[in-house]
Amino acid sequence: MRLFTRLHYPYGLSVRKLVLLIATVAVSAPAPVFADAVSVPAPQRTVSSFSFFSAATASTPKAYWNPCQVIRYGIDTTQATAAGMTGSREVKRWKSAVNEASRAMGVTFQYVGRVHARVAKNKPARLPGVDIVITYGNASRSGAAGYGAALAGTTAGVAGVNWTEAGQRDQITSGYVVIDARDAAAHTSTWQQPFDSRPATQRDPDPLRALYMHEFGHALGLEHVEDSSQIMYPRVSSTRPDIYGSGDRAGLQALGTQACF
Ligand SMILES: [Zn+2]
Repeated sequence: MRLFTRLHYPYGLSVRKLVLLIATVAVSAPAPVFADAVSVPAPQRTVSSFSFFSAATASTPKAYWNPCQVIRYGIDTTQATAAGMTGSREVKRWKSAVNEASRAMGVTFQYVGRVHARVAKNKPARLPGVDIVITYGNASRSGAAGYGAALAGTTAGVAGVNWTEAGQRDQITSGYVVIDARDAAAHTSTWQQPFDSRPATQRDPDPLRALYMHEFGHALGLEHVEDSSQIMYPRVSSTRPDIYGSGDRAGLQALGTQACF
């Protein structure tokens, strides 16, 4: 499912907001998968093995973060720990996922620490000093505790970006990820516990890290692709490496090498 809304703020700034959802299907051994809900539309642009939310040309993003800024991210693990996950382990997993994006993109990310994410209309509100808010919700709860509507049913996570129009380009100014804590906790205990922080080439794939890399890719401006060898393919399997594929890396590199805003 993909939602698209356009918001007009009181001061006249036009902000487009994209929300991408990924969802779980029934999980069964030995190859459980995360997958999009059946209602997901075909990607609007699939260029070989990478695609952007908003593209200027086939291989050039129109909407992207300022590659000359440090992108700051914070994590709220409240609902993760409530679901039985270990907060420090999740932070480690996120840092590992973000590091992969940083290497591919050539952009610096800064972990600002644990944050307290506020909920606004089933999405995390912007936080001062935080560019990308990463948090967890509980599909069975609504309001401040749960993001219930956004994570209802088989949805494992949501991610989105805001951007502002800047001439022929759009500058992404904030992003967020919400992980369904109960889904994640279930997969963590089933698949891999605890998180193994060794390099991906030295350990078994961690599907949860792959899910985080997928959602973080959305928060950086990447759209789904139909190439099943890429992280941005909307299915994450326990039998597939939890590393960005060649197309993922090409897309991230393009996002990280545009002119500065
Ligand atoms: Zn997705």
